[in-house]
Amino acid sequence: MPDLPRPRVLFSACLLGDRVRYDGDSATDEFALRLSKIVDVVKVCPEMELGLGTPRPKIILYKESSEVFAYQKDTGRFFTEELRSLADLVMKNLGPLDGALLKSRSPSCGVSGTKIYADSSGQELIGKGRGIFAEELIIRTSEIPVEDEDRLRRFRMLRLRFLMGVFTRAIIREGSWRDLAEVMENVSGKRMKFERVKAYHKRARTDELKSVLEKVLGVSTVRKLLEA
Ligand code: SF4
Repeated sequence: MPDLPRPRVLFSACLLGDRVRYDGDSATDEFALRLSKIVDVVKVCPEMELGLGTPRPKIILYKESSEVFAYQKDTGRFFTEELRSLADLVMKNLGPLDGALLKSRSPSCGVSGTKIYADSSGQELIGKGRGIFAEELIIRTSEIPVEDEDRLRRFRMLRLRFLMGVFTRAIIREGSWRDLAEVMENVSGKRMKFERVKAYHKRARTDELKSVLEKVLGVSTVRKLLEA
């Protein structure tokens, strides 16, 4: 592939080592660090963006009727609407994004595993879901891959799909999708029209995805990304 474009990827800042968590710590993730070396990084900590500082009292999510609220028990403040608006702002102001890698289990960033309670006391757990910022981002960016570090750590297939999706978007954005189509055709033996290239990361088999990525990114880069 000639001149591979660098995708623009949004990261939860704590995954890249920023000490912005509620407890003043980071949540450094090796895969996020390795990925950040080969993409253009767009970093955000939604709770810091809201001016909450660190350390800060924890936010919890609770459900009333069918609505989920982000609530800071210690202060009695709600951040549901602010987190939603922030996702909107990020999409409008940070330029094109090719993917997002967010922190699991967070009431703001969690793509999966975020605890949801029965009421504002935060005593009774009723399920798990997404953080408010992540949920809004996913609704607004249905076209870009959005994942969290926990799902990508547990499922190799998801990691391959995420990487393929991110690089496919960047390549399409830069207008060189025919070069990518050629690589895909060589690996799969199938004709690749534009729509098929766009959806390849969702449908191709694991071994095919890996082969295409190795041709696009190089064998050693893919190995480092998969073993992180
Ligand atoms: S999970 Fe999101 S809100 Fe929480 S510290 Fe990390 S970046 Fe900030």
